[in-house]
Amino acid sequence: MNNTLIINNKPIIIAGPCSAENENQLRTTIEQIAKDDRVSMIRCGVWKPRTRPGGFEGVGEPALRWIETIKQNFPSVPFCCEVARPEHIELCLQYGIDAVWIGARTTVNPFLVSELAEALKGSELAVMVKNPITPDVELWIGAIERIQQSGISNIAAVHRGFSTYNNFGYRNNPLWEIPIELKRRLPMMPLLCDPSHIGGRRSLVAPISQMALDLHFDGLIIECHPDPANALTDSQQQITPNELINLLDGLKKRTYDEPAPTDLNRLREQLDVIDAEILRLLSQRMQLSKDIGDIKHEYNMPIFQPQRWQQVLERQMAAARTMGLDEQFIKEITEKIHGESLRMQEQ
Ligand code: PEP
Ligand code: MN
Repeated sequence: MNNTLIINNKPIIIAGPCSAENENQLRTTIEQIAKDDRVSMIRCGVWKPRTRPGGFEGVGEPALRWIETIKQNFPSVPFCCEVARPEHIELCLQYGIDAVWIGARTTVNPFLVSELAEALKGSELAVMVKNPITPDVELWIGAIERIQQSGISNIAAVHRGFSTYNNFGYRNNPLWEIPIELKRRLPMMPLLCDPSHIGGRRSLVAPISQMALDLHFDGLIIECHPDPANALTDSQQQITPNELINLLDGLKKRTYDEPAPTDLNRLREQLDVIDAEILRLLSQRMQLSKDIGDIKHEYNMPIFQPQRWQQVLERQMAAARTMGLDEQFIKEITEKIHGESLRMQEQ
């Protein structure tokens, strides 16, 4: 039985190049990282989904041949790569790959996921399902369910961030609330984080990794290349094998003293009162907004008034500054509340 992706008491660490470029690059990377017993599996891109045509799209089957050869020197180390077509799964099985992952651009499409699920039937591959590019937890869970229906039991979810209107300095916006919701809904499913594709920059890989472990993720998948600056794909975010070891050395398992329960409870009770008050105020605000909507309908006014919206947003952000609140945070909350008001007034 394939026992990769089983959670024990240490994080699952998957590392390796974004893409297999040539046998030497692959061998050098693996030789340096597979000897570290914290590395649980090697990743390597064989077929690369590129946003724009014309870039390096992976070498395909020859990379599987290199893996097959290199694997002989590391018989206990499992290997994984990305699959997007049923033919990819057949080739992975043929070359003894242990696990596969479904990339963000594939998870987004239920037709493609069903085709992959069909091809996985009867195999013992472990399967990782990356989140879809859109921040849609249902689509992510749906893809996992399709893979489960094919009889695969060794499945993990991988959080690699989302394409959003503003990515806030990340390559892919982490929107941590989405993987947290996935974990709430599927508590037994291992949840890994891909800090490389979230950050998109070398300097962000370590802090995002630490954040993920602090949020109780079960492991990490990290891109690693012997000469990142000259990598054929994702050169900005890959780290060297040495940097990987340093990163793993630096990861802290947070230990803390339990605060006195009375102190904590007293503060939490205060929070609960404030949360209830926030809801009460929101409900009151929505009622007022509905009344305004009635007037707009009566006078045939457009629901959305850009000038008024501009004033509200500027006023809230200025107030946030004076109260020491993060402006971006208040902007997002105000946008959400305004969006909900418009939706109610439309009805
Ligand atoms: C990758 O892991 O190399 C990759 C292409 O990832 P994603 O599907 O998350 O973009
Ligand atoms: Mn990559």
